Amino acid sequence: MTIALIAHDSKKELMVQFCTAYCRILSQNQLVATGTTGKLIAESTGLPVKRFLSGKQGGDQQIAARIACNEIDLLIFFRDPINAKPSEPNEMTLLRLCDVHNIPMATNIATAEVLIHGLERGDLDWRSIVNPPQA
Ligand code: PGA
Repeated sequence: MTIALIAHDSKKELMVQFCTAYCRILSQNQLVATGTTGKLIAESTGLPVKRFLSGKQGGDQQIAARIACNEIDLLIFFRDPINAKPSEPNEMTLLRLCDVHNIPMATNIATAEVLIHGLERGDLDWRSIVNPPQA
């Protein structure tokens, strides 16, 4: 499965903690992320993360394009619902595209934990049929 990870600045520490806690499960999947989020995750966990541009430079739109092509199986986007900066990615495009393709998406850690446990249990295996791994 390909998991996309994005965190607003105030949620980046939370994202690092989440990825550290679920390092074993995440290591069995392909990870992609916006630039800074991916850098922090890779540095702190050692997990290989394919990094796109930073959110400010359009990294969220690079991920949105892959969601639009149904290439992402799970999106974890820790957003700041109170103090998001205008330059930070807006979740509406990502949310809409996830809904178009029935891609599971979490915007907070409570949902992210449910999804990651579901992923481990095989609840998302149907995605491998919809989106077979590329050779
Ligand atoms: P970043 O993108 O991971 O490059 O910071 C997300 C954001 O801008 O909030």
